[in-house]
Amino acid sequence: MRLATMRTDATVERILDETGQGKAPTKQDCAYLLGFHELSIEASLMRAVADALSRQRFANNGIVLGQIGLEIAACPGKCKFCSFGEGHTDFKPSAMSDEDIVANALSFTASDELYALFLMTMHTFDIRRLLKLVQILRAKIPKETQIVVNIGDFDRFQALDLKSAGVNGAYHVCRLREGTDTALLPEDRKATIRTIKEASLDWYYCCEPIGPEHSPEELAEQIYLGVEYDCFQHAAMRRVYIPSAPLASRGQISELRLAQIVAVVALATLACPGACSIAVHEPNLLGLTSGANTVYAESGANPRDTEEETSGHRGRDIHDCKNMLYESGFANLLTSPDRLVPLAEAYR
Ligand code: SF4
Repeated sequence: MRLATMRTDATVERILDETGQGKAPTKQDCAYLLGFHELSIEASLMRAVADALSRQRFANNGIVLGQIGLEIAACPGKCKFCSFGEGHTDFKPSAMSDEDIVANALSFTASDELYALFLMTMHTFDIRRLLKLVQILRAKIPKETQIVVNIGDFDRFQALDLKSAGVNGAYHVCRLREGTDTALLPEDRKATIRTIKEASLDWYYCCEPIGPEHSPEELAEQIYLGVEYDCFQHAAMRRVYIPSAPLASRGQISELRLAQIVAVVALATLACPGACSIAVHEPNLLGLTSGANTVYAESGANPRDTEEETSGHRGRDIHDCKNMLYESGFANLLTSPDRLVPLAEAYR
């Protein structure tokens, strides 16, 4: 049997070598790295280097975030990968009551381990209800736990209202093929990102939703948007196969390919001084050993799920997420900007 050659690509070696000196790969370098197959030695090297650098950069601290999907409706975003898109969704409209949302929030925060609680709506949302909810939750959950919104586009007045109510950050993405695979405009998405930055809210970003059809150049372009606007958190997420979604026939990338993209995200954010963490969606061990240090628990509605309530289905809970961080070798859980909990404690 002939063993594979152990020689590695000289350009990859040069790019990775430079990251060791703190130099981020350029957009073109990122596209070059993403052009390698996930089974190549080069891809393994990228993951190993990104893992080592991220552990150093984030002091081997992991983070668990929790998201509650507040409602379900036929969403005018019409994203062709989402189970709620108008025109193809099978879901009947529904909304969690305030009591249920509070109960979910308390369950996420009971152990005092959650860094941030995310509240997710459809593209259109009721700002008055959201503001009221944030005020209710702010009074009930630990004051250190950040509140982050994952909602449709909003303007600077709404951003300031959200901030005054107690919101610390917002997840907002100009998605891959936004405007082609969605009914939303890339310029509107970017305007909201600028609004988030101008309001001094923490901006959570992600390279998503990745499918097999996305070229290395498209991925690099989208990764770099997060770098250029200086995100607070960068991440990578694959598109999940949903049989009824219009993009189902394009298939799904492997967790190994996703981990390679996580690695490139982690390396690219060396040029992003504001980036405090790197996430992988959905939570998995390969991503957490390739440069990511953050995973999300989920409850309620989930655009990647075919069940109305994602907890107990696709959604992971806090315990699962903590377990994954421990199994991936993280030493501590960062539960707020100033508080660390040793992960090994629970396993003694
Ligand atoms: S991904 Fe978000 S904006 Fe797009 S259809 Fe789904 S809920 Fe709406």
